[in-house]
Order: sequence, then structure tokens, then C-alpha cells
Amino acid sequence: MISKKKTKNLKTHVTLEENEVSKDQQPESSNAPLPTHAQVVIIGGGVIGCSVAYHLTKLGWRDVVLLERSQLTAGTTWHAAGLVVTPSGDELSVEMATYTIELMKTLEAETGQSTGFNPIGYLQLACTPEWLEERRRMAVAARRLGVNYLEISPAEVKELWPLADTSDILAGFFTPEDGRANPVDFTMALAKGARMGGAQIFEETAVTGVNQKNGRVTGVVTEKGDIETEYVVNCAGLWGRELGKFAGVNVPLQAAEHYYLLSEPIEEVHPDLPIIEDFERYSYFREEVGGLLVGFFEPVAAPWGMDGIPKDFSFGELKPDWDRMMPYIDIAMERVPILKNTGIHKFFCGPESFTPDGGPLLGEAPELENFYVAAGLNSLGILQGGGVGKIMARWIVDGYCPVESMEIDIARCFPFQGAQKYLTDRTVETLGLQYQLIFPNTTMQTARNIRKTAIHEQLAEAGAFFVEGMGWEIPDWYAPPGVEAKIEKYTWGRQNWFEFLAAEHKACREDVILMDVTSMSKFLVQGRDSERVLNRICANDVAVPVGKVVYTQWLNERGGMEADLTVTRLAEDKYFIVSAGDFYTHDLMWLKKYIPYDAHAFVTDVTSGYTLLNIQGPKSRHLMQRITTADVSKEAFPYMTAQEIDINYALVQVMRVTYEGELGFELYVPTEFSAHVYEAVVEAGRDLGLRHAGFQALNTLRIEKAYREYGHDMDNLDTPLEAGLGWAVKFDKPDGFIGREALLRHKENGPLKYRMVQFLLEDPEPLLYGNEIIYRDREIVGYLQTGAYGFTLGGAMGMGFVENEDGATADFINSGTYEIDIAGERYPAKASLRPMYDPEGIRVRS
Ligand SMILES: Cc1cc2nc3c(=O)[nH]c(=O)nc-3n(C[C@H](O)[C@H](O)[C@H](O)COP(=O)(O)OP(=O)(O)OC[C@H]3O[C@@H](n4cnc5c(N)ncnc54)[C@H](O)[C@@H]3O)c2cc1C
Repeated sequence: MISKKKTKNLKTHVTLEENEVSKDQQPESSNAPLPTHAQVVIIGGGVIGCSVAYHLTKLGWRDVVLLERSQLTAGTTWHAAGLVVTPSGDELSVEMATYTIELMKTLEAETGQSTGFNPIGYLQLACTPEWLEERRRMAVAARRLGVNYLEISPAEVKELWPLADTSDILAGFFTPEDGRANPVDFTMALAKGARMGGAQIFEETAVTGVNQKNGRVTGVVTEKGDIETEYVVNCAGLWGRELGKFAGVNVPLQAAEHYYLLSEPIEEVHPDLPIIEDFERYSYFREEVGGLLVGFFEPVAAPWGMDGIPKDFSFGELKPDWDRMMPYIDIAMERVPILKNTGIHKFFCGPESFTPDGGPLLGEAPELENFYVAAGLNSLGILQGGGVGKIMARWIVDGYCPVESMEIDIARCFPFQGAQKYLTDRTVETLGLQYQLIFPNTTMQTARNIRKTAIHEQLAEAGAFFVEGMGWEIPDWYAPPGVEAKIEKYTWGRQNWFEFLAAEHKACREDVILMDVTSMSKFLVQGRDSERVLNRICANDVAVPVGKVVYTQWLNERGGMEADLTVTRLAEDKYFIVSAGDFYTHDLMWLKKYIPYDAHAFVTDVTSGYTLLNIQGPKSRHLMQRITTADVSKEAFPYMTAQEIDINYALVQVMRVTYEGELGFELYVPTEFSAHVYEAVVEAGRDLGLRHAGFQALNTLRIEKAYREYGHDMDNLDTPLEAGLGWAVKFDKPDGFIGREALLRHKENGPLKYRMVQFLLEDPEPLLYGNEIIYRDREIVGYLQTGAYGFTLGGAMGMGFVENEDGATADFINSGTYEIDIAGERYPAKASLRPMYDPEGIRVRS
């Protein structure tokens, strides 16, 4: 399982009513006394814990102990029936689901325990032009990933599902091979397989504490005795956050009510009826004991268990909130009108855990070495259970994530996200996201205004439209004077602010812009060993003169990129590191992990200490010269250098760097001087055409210059060589660097199989957002990682990897004729390995 792409998508589920573990299904919980030592202790016997145990034994680990406080499946797993469905535009989700289905098909032969998998087919409805376009875009991506995703007519939908009202349906999307499984049976089969591989399972054994020494986990405490261990895996589902606290680990998940109703039997309903999913009615339908099971993903959800999950909550149910849910039941019944005249056998409510961004929390906890987490499955735990177990086992055994980690790694979370109020408020939104049409540039609405920069009010006054990212209010674009900063209508086309963005882009290319990019992560590394330890972590050489800015990647042992950032030498023993805001926790963890315990090098997080003002454009030097007494000429302040200079009354660390592809300066302003420096810049830029610009402009500008965006264009699976960043790798540094040997082997293995390429559509009309398919000479060779409009070059642009088994050489790439497929239509495109804008870098060095 190797994944290269992200995105969010819709998945659905089904649940069974009678799912409690029957006596003959119960695994032989070990009667042996609890061991005093194990190589790994897994906490939690739901589908996830059992899958992790099973997959660890598959990798040859035998000394595996699983502890369950109650009985296997007693948490959330027992009441999920498990729709196991594959369609998604997100490669990793498709891979996890596909793998789970394959596992469900083979586990019975291996263990003698059925998983109940039944491929009854899966049908999604599109009832508005917007949903139709979204499904068609998704279909292009899903088919590329091997999903048999068929668009069918309303008449065909009716044929498959005669009870459905199809009068408003524009199209159906059908996956005949998908279906449903029995979550309890699946979990029991995994548990059995794990035991066959040597794992020991102990039920009625609650973990009550976690031991650690020198930042590394050493054991667990239970009511029946302690176990010393090298690894702990927190698979405690709803209890995962509380369990994390035992270890000082932040696991930001929150339980929420999750519903389905079971109707009385209906004559026309039979077990082979496909699952039907109706996003606009927030519901899904399938057969259950001769009646219908109707599940809900309501747009406004209700968190549960804010005072903690009750200790004795086993095979538990919650009291349904009929008043809150009745409107959703009513609109769901309109899809299958016969339900209006059918009795409700049961309205079931069970808790499931949800995370702030709707992605699972997997991987090693940033706070504690060898303490792993696999929790927060956002109602996809059965569907993804097989894949999660496989990924986790490899992650634990190898020490690094085997798939693209950006949207699953627990290290993407921030400490503040563990706060109860934040989780309570945010969970209201995340459950509904599963069935929401997510247009480009949509932003979370809950838990807003938490992190604001020191000049937030001034930016609002200047017309900023803010989106949420990492808790920050981020200026996305600016409305001109007299126009309200709001989105009039979300669409896949040009939204009302498209021309405002064009103006920001133009101002950067021709005059000068001001951006507040304070949300970037900022760290100091100080001490006499700083150069030595950082040179081991960085692929580029940071043994440079004081004042030099170095662009570099941090690699894992496999040569994959773990970070992409700048390291600036401020003094012999002092470095300043700046990376994207999203990777704050991960990058901090990486530094702490790879700075040896006895080294004289110490990390300080200074993110909140500085406002980061970005002044970019051909007139930026002119502007800067007006507000400082320092010489900012090309000779005195060259590209990729830093100086502390005065800006009016303030002393500011300034770097001559750019992510926009222009002459530019980044100002690291001590927070309390922010308003003063901001006002000075605005005043000095007034007659130079200075415009405020937002993060949308940052994206359109950088994509023209083909500057890579880590986490989107490239990730932990890509090497700098594939990403076209080989020039930033210094193989000959005296003490090498982490990942060097792997990268050298990669280099010696012949031509690269895939390489990053920049694309420009010839037709200026269509837009690109990423995930569109790349055709070379009418053959699929890859897909776009990101897309944005290139206002200077006059068309939509994208970045994507082009693959060729025999080598993605420059000849191969340059000799092809390219097209990009957008929602099933292909558009001719130019392709280039070199940046199409300013390929010689003349402007950035000017
Ligand atoms: C109504 C409903 C319908 C759903 N339908 C679907 C569906 O159709 N498809 C799908 O993919 N997903 C579905 N889900 C989601 C799915 O059920 C979950 O994602 C999945 O079961 C989570 O599994 P888990 O192993 O993480 O958690 P759990 O099953 O909750 O397992 C965690 C276990 O940890 C144990 N534990 C906790 N603390 C301790 C401790 N201190 N010591 C020892 N053990 C401890 C608990 O007792 C529990 O057994 C549904 C969920 C709900 C609520």
C-alpha cells in the first residue's frame, strides 16, 4: 500500500442491530496470568486494536499483548454493521478500503471465522447540478485508482431500487463490487488471526496508567499488574483522549451521537438491495432483517460524553434525541416514501469519536517516543480498519509512516485542539462533513477566532476574508474598498472574489504587496552543537556564514521528505527555522527526536513571538528603503540572506527570500511592534501601488514559479530528487545527513520513475484544483497534486508527478503532448520541468 494523494471524501456506513458478541463467538481470552513483559501492548479490543495486533503478528512480531477493559467489540465496534465501500478521490482512503475488503474476503479461509462480507453494491445519488459535478470529478479520480465507479441514469437507479423516489435524481453512481460486512465477525476474525500469530488477548483488563522514562514509554499499569513494554498502541476509541492523558499525550477526539433507525419489515425489501446513499438527505439506506436501516450524517451534530466516557460503558446505547433528529428523519423518508407508512422498530443512537478535521489520528505521539495512537476513526473504523492495522504495524516496526502521512498523522494536531470547548464546538461540524459537498476554498465555521495575529483588526479593516487554518484566522483574499468581504456562492467555477485575487496577483508582479503570514512555524535552535546537529538533520548544508538563509528538506531514513523549510544562521551558535504552520507539531517533534540527548543544542518555539510580514514585488526594495536606515540594495542585502535592521522605531529580523517569485523581504517583527511596523509599511507603500494580498495569492504566485508546496505537491513518500529539488541536497557534507544512503541508492538505481512537472492549460477558461488526471499522448501518466490560476501566464496551472516505468527522463517529459482531464473533459496543456515564470530566477535575485 503506497499512497500519494490526499483529499477528503464521503464514505458511508451501515450498522446492525443485533451485534453483541454471542457466546460462541467470544475469543478465548487468555486465562494465563498477565505477563510482566511484552514487546508491544495494544490497548483496546475494538476493530482497530485487533487489526493492529493481527498485522503486527503478520510482520513476525509474536510478543504482542492486547488488553481490553471489557469484552472485545464492547466499545463502538459492536453496533456498526459496516458499509464497506470504496469510492473516493483520495488515494489513501481508496487503498485502505480496498485492502479491508480484500482482507474480509480472505480472513475466513485463514481463520475459520467469517467476516460476513456481502458484495450487494453501493449506489450514490446526485440530485443537483453541483453534486453531479462533484461526483463526476470524484469519478475521474476514483476510476484512476481502480474503482469500478459507474454513472447510471435515473431509470437505472429505479431499476436497482424500485422503492426509491427518483423524480429529482440527475444521475446515480454505482459500485457493484462494494457491500457490507459484519463488524463483530470481522473483529473476531482479526482477533483469532492475531492469536494464531502468537498474540495474547486479555479481556476485563483495564489499563489505568502508562509508565515512561526519559521521554520514552516503558510500560502500562493495569488492575491486574504492570507490564513492561517497548511499545504501547492506544486503540481505545472513545476513551483514546483520556488514555492519552495517562501518558501526557494529546489525542484530540470527541465522542458524538451517531444514529440509524430500523424499520419494520417491508415486503419489497430483500437482502441483495444495494446500499443507497443520499447526500442531500443526509442519509443512507440498506436492508436489515427484512426492513430498512436508515443511517444519518446530520449537518449539525451533537457531541456526547464531555465529562468523560462512563467507566462501565460496554455494549452501550444512548437515549435518542427525537426532537433534534426528527427533521432529518422526515426528509430521509421522502426518498423512500413507503417508510412514511412503515413502523419504526428502533431508533438507535451510539457514540463514535470524531476529530477536528475529520481525519484519523494515527502514528507515534509527538510527546512520547514509542507511544503510538490509532483512534478517532470518524465513523469509518470498519471500512478503514484493515488498512489502519496494516499501516500501523509497518509504522511501528519500521519507525516511519509507510503511506502519505499528511492527513492521518497525529503529529498534525496542535496542543490547543485538546481543549474541551474546542472539541465540543468543532465536533458539531465534523460529523456532518461526511455528507457535505465540499467546494474549493470552503472553510470550517465552528471554533473560529481562536488565534488571531496582532494586526488582525487592521487586516479586517483592509477588507480581508478570513479562513480557518490551524486555529488561525488566515487572510485568504481582500475585497476592494466599499465591497463586503464575503463569498456570494460556492461553485467549482470563478467565485465572486476571482477578480480581487487577480488584482493582488498583478500587484505582486508589477508593484508591491503586503501579506501577513504569521501562522508559519518558527523555532530557534541554540547551543554550541547547533551546527553539527542541524547539519545531520538537514539535507542541505547549514554550515554557512552568519546571515545566510538555507532552503532545505529534512529526510527520513528512506530518503523521503519529512519537512521543507528554511534554516537561517543568526550567529555561530544560533539558527532560526521557519516552516509551514501546518507542520508545527511534526517539525518540533522531529527536532526533539533527532537532536541527541547529550548534545548542546536546544530548541525554542518562537512562533508566537513574531508577526511575519511579507513584502514582495519589484517595488519592495523601494518601499523598504523608505522605512529603514539600513542599506537594502542588492549588493548590501543579497538574495537568501538575513539581517536585523531598524524599521522606524523597531528592530526587525529581515530575510531576503520569496515564495512568490519576486524580489521580496520577510519581516519577523517582535509581536508588540506589529502595529507600528504594519503602519509604517502601509504608509510607505501608499504611492507605490501597495496592496494587501492573502493566501490565495500566495498560491497563484508560487504555482507560476513552480515552487513546491510541501504536504500538497510532495510529501513523505517523495524524495527531493523526484520533486526536482536535488540541487538542495549536499551529498558531500563531511558527516552526511539522515537519509543520505537511501537517497544515494535511489540515485544509483537508474532514472527516476516519476518526476514533478508544472502544467499550464492552453484554454484560459477552465480552473484546476488538484486531483485532475494527466494524459501524455493519450495515456494516463499521473494526476495533479495542486492547481491554481496563473494570472500572469494566463491560464489554470497545476503541479503533478509524471510517471514512466522506463524512466521519467527530461526527454520523456518534454517530448509528450499533454491533456488534463477535468470532470471527464480533456484540455490541452503545456508541461515543463523548469518554472514557466522567470525560469532563470532573474527577478528573485534582482
Ligand atoms: C451508529 C454507528 C454506525 C457506524 N457505522 C459504521 C459503518 O457502517 N462503517 C464503518 O466503517 N464504521 C461505522 N461506524 C464507526 C465504527 O463503529 C468505529 O469507527 C469503529 O468501531 C472504531 O473502532 P475502535 O476500535 O477505534 O473503537 P472501539 O470499538 O470503541 O474500541 C475501543 C476499545 O478500547 C477499550 N478500552 C478503552 N479504554 C481502555 C482501557 N483503559 N484499557 C483497556 N481497554 C480499553 C474499549 O472498551 C473498547 O472496546 C459506526 C459508528 C456508529 C456509532
